[in-house]
Amino acid sequence: MNSASRALLDALHAMGAAQLSPGASGNISVRVDGGMLISASGAVAQRATEGDVVFVADTQQDLRDWPADQPRPSSEWRMHQALYASHPRSNAVVHCHSLNATALACQRRAIPAFHYMVSVAGGDDIPCTDYALFGSEELSEQVCLALAKRQACLMANHGQICIGDTAQAALALAQEVEALAACYLLSRQHGEPTLLSDDEMEQVQQAFCHYGQRLK
Ligand SMILES: [Zn+2]
Repeated sequence: MNSASRALLDALHAMGAAQLSPGASGNISVRVDGGMLISASGAVAQRATEGDVVFVADTQQDLRDWPADQPRPSSEWRMHQALYASHPRSNAVVHCHSLNATALACQRRAIPAFHYMVSVAGGDDIPCTDYALFGSEELSEQVCLALAKRQACLMANHGQICIGDTAQAALALAQEVEALAACYLLSRQHGEPTLLSDDEMEQVQQAFCHYGQRLK
């Protein structure tokens, strides 16, 4: 097995072990020459094997001619492909339906600057896309829009998605987003949390830069 397949399987197993996405709902990809390796449609993360690793070329436009005897890529392959095209320096995408992030996404609510760690996604909030059907081009467009200046976002009535330099980094970010979503929901049970100001969040961003890219 090559190192890209290994990295993808390791990330899938870690996502499964962390119970970040129920059933076969999550999917992960890594960039490779000419395209990406992505988890197969219907693959259950924790039990994924080499047979669940599918190559999709950058030039793939639809699955009409996909060989019937080959595993098909995740139904969300389009948004992974679109993210690689729009983020040339990102090499991995993690999408999952983690419980608390999804609960917020169902309210179409972004995670505001209620905690300094919101900065790990690259800005003052973790935005939430508008709703679009799973697997659709419209969803790809929504996700690319939300991630234009961020590395993570919520997806309305659906889940969350993160990009990173490596599968490990993208997965660590997805876990961070889930923890922040849980904390935000908990905090809101006692009224609206006090948000950090733009200046305070700017200081956090600067401190993170000095710190190095902590989630690598
Ligand atoms: Zn999904």
